[in-house]
Amino acid sequence: MTGEKITTRFAPSATGLLHLGNVRTALFNWLFARKVQGAFLLRIEGSDRARESDFALDTLIEDLIWLGLQWDEGFGVGGGGGPYRQSERTALYAQSYEQLQEQGLAYPCFCLPGELALARKAQLAAGRAPRYPGTCARLTAEAVMRFRAQGQQPSLRFRVPAGATIEFDDSVRGAQSFRNDDIGDFVIRRSDGSAAFFFCNAIDDALMGVTDVVRGEDHLSNTPRQILILDAVALRVPRYGHIALVLDEAGQPLSKRAGSLSVHALRERGYLPDAINNALARLGHTYDDPVFLEIEDLIGGFSLSRLSRAPARFSPAQLDFWQREALHRTRADDLWNWMGEPVRDLVPEAARQMFIEAIRANVLLPEDALAWANIIYRGPAELSQPASQAIADAKPGYFRGASEALARHPGDFQRFIATLKANVAESGKRLFMPLRAALTGRVDGPELAALYGLLGAERLRARLQSYLR
Ligand code: GLU
Repeated sequence: MTGEKITTRFAPSATGLLHLGNVRTALFNWLFARKVQGAFLLRIEGSDRARESDFALDTLIEDLIWLGLQWDEGFGVGGGGGPYRQSERTALYAQSYEQLQEQGLAYPCFCLPGELALARKAQLAAGRAPRYPGTCARLTAEAVMRFRAQGQQPSLRFRVPAGATIEFDDSVRGAQSFRNDDIGDFVIRRSDGSAAFFFCNAIDDALMGVTDVVRGEDHLSNTPRQILILDAVALRVPRYGHIALVLDEAGQPLSKRAGSLSVHALRERGYLPDAINNALARLGHTYDDPVFLEIEDLIGGFSLSRLSRAPARFSPAQLDFWQREALHRTRADDLWNWMGEPVRDLVPEAARQMFIEAIRANVLLPEDALAWANIIYRGPAELSQPASQAIADAKPGYFRGASEALARHPGDFQRFIATLKANVAESGKRLFMPLRAALTGRVDGPELAALYGLLGAERLRARLQSYLR
């Protein structure tokens, strides 16, 4: 790879929201391009504009930018290989179709879907892999004219050279070999005139100067056909690498239908880009240290040789782990913004810093920050079961002792707790839990010292008072 400029790409279609599986592919391509100081390109696939949605397109652009996966060429950015939207490239494909037909490497096929289905059935019944039986491969010019005169629109089939083998070195999976005779002549233009996916995908990569395609292994079986096409039109074949799919916890491949795992949904809920990038970069790729990595270090440690051939399993708990790591590193000002307006409305300006640091380690999402702001500034909505237990278990006189300690040291938690300890002759859990439960309605959460400071004498008094019976 010396001297050659690497160009990678991400080629989503704008028919649905990006899910974590798609975006992992984008991330790997981006990391690879950055690592080798190459270029990363974005192309919007899909020859049928009607199936695209503006929302999906806008959202996928926002998602990529939000994750920091900026592209150097392509959709909305430009470059020498445009247009970067497949639906605007129809005229370009026409040239290749013509070229292939002139060379006898593609032919019109008038087979009807029902006929093809029958042939497939017969082949399967005979224990053979289904492939096109070659019905239209040798039609005479008269036959073609006759079909056309009947108004039948043909598809265009690529003529696969018999007897040969397609070999390529997959940059993830190593040597691959496919027998042409197993492939069968395949459709490169549908009878409605639209381009078949693997045709435009291959032509576009070549015309856009993509040197390396890294994509899901669900495309592995397309690759020999794409190599055949590019060889036939004398365009450069990129290196292909196929990564194992991402499975969910149930072992199913992530899909667009799993809406909750869309990048958009995670962004809306308050997951941080660094958390998502750290989680995804380790799904099917290994780093030496299982520690949070800044984006520069994710780039530095990336290598195609570290991509795994085994499927990776995504677990929400992993994402949450990286989210906590990312939150831990986020600047206070950014955390404040992240928490959102409802939190900012509740927390007084003067308490902002203290609030942020008090809850930083106890939140995963802005909704958790809001829950704490509500508990602190509005009061616990209700007691959790363990909290009411802790209160019921408190020593008789506990809350009187606490109120008395508070009256003496309203602004000093350490002296308050020392006095409470002396007043009630308790220690450890039995000293702290009833207090925490009475103040917050829960038995977990930020440091008591921080809560004490945030609540202030008046709220502290009121909350303890309600347990003086
Ligand atoms: N649009 C295709 C997909 O999203 C691109 C496949 C590829 O990367 O070649 O599956």
